[in-house]
Amino acid sequence: MKPLNIVHLFPELLNLYGDGGNVMTLRRRCEWRNIPVQVTEVGMGDSIDFSSADIVFIGGGADREQLIVKDAMMSRKADLSSYVADAGVLLAVCGGYQFLGHHYAMDDVVVDGLGIVDMETVRGEGRLIGNAVVQSDISDIPVVGFENHGGRTTLGSGVAPFGRVLAQTRGNNGEDGGEGVHQDNLIGTYLHGPLLPKNPQVADHLISRALERRGDSAELAPLDDAVELEANRIMLHRLGVF
Ligand code: GLN
Repeated sequence: MKPLNIVHLFPELLNLYGDGGNVMTLRRRCEWRNIPVQVTEVGMGDSIDFSSADIVFIGGGADREQLIVKDAMMSRKADLSSYVADAGVLLAVCGGYQFLGHHYAMDDVVVDGLGIVDMETVRGEGRLIGNAVVQSDISDIPVVGFENHGGRTTLGSGVAPFGRVLAQTRGNNGEDGGEGVHQDNLIGTYLHGPLLPKNPQVADHLISRALERRGDSAELAPLDDAVELEANRIMLHRLGVF
């Protein structure tokens, strides 16, 4: 079997709050099942053929990093859009998530987005910070993480969020109860932590969608997730969600 190719975009700049741990989780969960896997790190000046990608990951970054990376991101706009239109699996977190929309309007500059998702982000008053928990259709236990963003994201009508906020979670904009976006095989979210280690069902969702897309069996062997589920449970307990 051809190795599952996990493409990590701009890890040198978009890697806030351990977001690179998402890539480690995807790789290890494949290895534990003897699914051949490789990670391709793509730096700002590197070329990348997205037709060889099975999962694309874009991590978060502060506004400063987003401004540094924006041109390199936009130079991949056409390729990334075709990849997603071809049901490519993509996970984007926070700053990376904001890039999926039409634009991110910071205080004095508007950063163009990839326009892959009908959504926009504007800089709000203050930051939305704290441990976070989200009810998502793709996991039968709540998804836990940590959010810290100044941007407020609004999804276009008919665009589905990744999930609904629980407890004190602020989500996309602190107002409409939505968190992130879920569109075909694309997930965007504000949840750092990193996201996947404590939410193994989300990790496996991405792996099985990627396998299915290339015609391999999407049936994943079960793993012993006792440690992962305990970490999830402790977060829920702290947030008062049972
Ligand atoms: N710079 C963005 C914001 O503050 C994203 C931050 C992040 O990735 N945590 O909204």
